[in-house]
Amino acid sequence: MASIFTRIINREIPAEIVYEDDQVIGFKDINPHAPVHILIVPKKEIPSINDVTSEDEAVLGRLLVAAQQIAKEQGIAESGYRLLVNTGHDAGQEVQHIHVHLLGGRRLGPMLSRG
Ligand code: AMP
Repeated sequence: MASIFTRIINREIPAEIVYEDDQVIGFKDINPHAPVHILIVPKKEIPSINDVTSEDEAVLGRLLVAAQQIAKEQGIAESGYRLLVNTGHDAGQEVQHIHVHLLGGRRLGPMLSRG
């Protein structure tokens, strides 16, 4: 079954899309953790970083180039932002389709809580 993000890419369910090219889409996270919280997703449905192959190198690079452009467009390139990719159970990955979280618009605090 198609992932929820593939369904967004196919316009089967709505999302606030802020970026799109031939390989990548960017849209607002439905449950934002910061004033700017965008998900950047490859159109190819790769479940997680554990599943990437050398064939995916170009699209993985494109995710970061898109992140740079979206950060500029969202006005947070200078103030700063965080890119985050959850992978698997311990990271709490909820959607099995690779996505880069782009977070910014406020001081984000320490990278992780200790424990
Ligand atoms: P992760 O825990 O890294 O897998 O993150 C999944 C993210 O997808 C969460 O931040 C959710 O809020 C977000 N999300 C889930 N469904 C949607 C949706 N339909 N539109 C936008 N964001 C979504």
